[in-house]
This record gives sequence, C-alpha cells and structure tokens, in this order.
Amino acid sequence: MLPRLFDTHTHFDVPDFDSDREQLAYQAKAAGVEALVLIGFVASRFADLLYTQQFVNGLSQAPQAYLAPGLHPFYIEQHQPEHLLQLEQLLQQQDCVAVGEIGLDTFLPEHKQPEIFAKQQDYFQQQLELARQYQKPVLLHIRKAHAESIALLKQQKFQLGGIAHAFSGGVEEAKALIKLGFKIGVTGQITNPNAKKLHRVVQEIAAEHLVLETDCPDMTPLCCQVSSLERTRNTPVNLPYVLAGLAQSLQCDEETLAEQLWHNTQQCLRL
Ligand SMILES: [Zn+2]
Repeated sequence: MLPRLFDTHTHFDVPDFDSDREQLAYQAKAAGVEALVLIGFVASRFADLLYTQQFVNGLSQAPQAYLAPGLHPFYIEQHQPEHLLQLEQLLQQQDCVAVGEIGLDTFLPEHKQPEIFAKQQDYFQQQLELARQYQKPVLLHIRKAHAESIALLKQQKFQLGGIAHAFSGGVEEAKALIKLGFKIGVTGQITNPNAKKLHRVVQEIAAEHLVLETDCPDMTPLCCQVSSLERTRNTPVNLPYVLAGLAQSLQCDEETLAEQLWHNTQQCLRL
C-alpha cells in the first residue's frame, strides 16, 4: 500500500496549472497524496484560491484541498490595508485551515530598507493577530530574517503554532521555532546532497518535528528537473520524491516516516 502523504504547501491555484490541474490532481492522488494545502500570497488571487479549492474538492479520486489565505512578505509592496479586511472575510466565511503564507523576507536588498521592512513586520504582526482571533495556526515564510521573525513571534506570544515552510535556517533557529510550537517544512531541496545545511537540520531534529511540502510550482526535486538550464515546473505529483529524499537523509524506512509525517501534519493543522 502507498504511504499517505500530505502536501502542506502548494500554489496549485496559479495559472501554471490551468491547462492540466485536473489530470495532476488525479495523478497526485494515485501517487499517495491524500491532501494538500492551497496557500495565499496576494489578495488579488484570493478568488482563484477559493475557486481552486472548490474545483479540486469537486473531483472524485483527487487530494482533499485545504485553504490557507494570507499576505506574503515578498509581495509587500502590493499589500493594502483593505487586503487585511479581505483576509478576515475569508477567515470568517470559509473553512480555513491556517493563515499563510506570512512572515519576513529580506532576500532582496530593497526589502531591507527600513520603511519596507517595517511594513513587512506590520503585516506579519496584524496577520498573527487575525490568526489568534480566529484560532488558526500560521504557515511561515521566512527568508534571511529568522532572528527577527522569531523575536516577533515571541513578542506577540503567539501560541497556535503552524509550519515554518521551505525552512532555510540553521539548527538553532529550527529548535527555537519548534519550541514555539512549529513544525519544519521540508521541500524537494532535500533531494539535493549539496543542501548540507538542510540535511544537518533534519538530522539534528527528530522526524516528529517535520512535515512534507512541494511548494509547487517551485522547488522541483532534483530528480524531476528536466534541464539545468530552464526551470522545470514542480507539481504535487512529485511529493513522493520529497519523502524518499528525506527518508534517505534520515536513513529510515519510508513507510514509517510517512505515517509519522502524516500524524505531525494532522496535529499542527488541528484536523
Ligand atoms: Zn509558497
């Protein structure tokens, strides 16, 4: 029997999948992907996010699709106060599993500028407040801002936990997030033997703190990349490769690991 898998982070709503979303949903289910989370990033896509959830859940033999709307720090210039109101409406009216993806991202030098970074912090904080109000966990996007993000979570006394998605920090940062109630999201990067920092993190913290994700259409597992020159679209169908990469890194049995990861996801998303 195939192990049950949960893709905790997808952008399966984006136009990259418009031509073959239905087929991919069937293929993902056939590969053992029993559930996936549709993650928000800008308010202008909330309607499509909701539509995709209804579409996927209307199919038989497809993964169960869960909704996690949020305003992503990388798109900070686009966010407006009314988008927070739209987010709150979704939380009120729809069955949302989490708020996401939210956090801090200073990968681009312009996002380090004080006023831009202050806006990221403001939106992060306001969305943590919404999550608290509606009793939802959060899906974190943190890039080159781990210390600041952990400080803000502590300062807000946020206790509902969630997932630190596509985790790129070090062992100490992973441990700090686990202490705050978070699971660590592992992408197809784990299939890359050169991703030494990530291998060290997963080996250092136990499997009980990890969950799987594709982050599709990005983060394509190494084995699924068609060419090193052009970007290969990632899909939820590739999730078993993430499991295999993680099992190899942890030197453990795939089925046992899958059961543990499924349990971790159910627990942190309160399903
Ligand atoms: Zn994402």
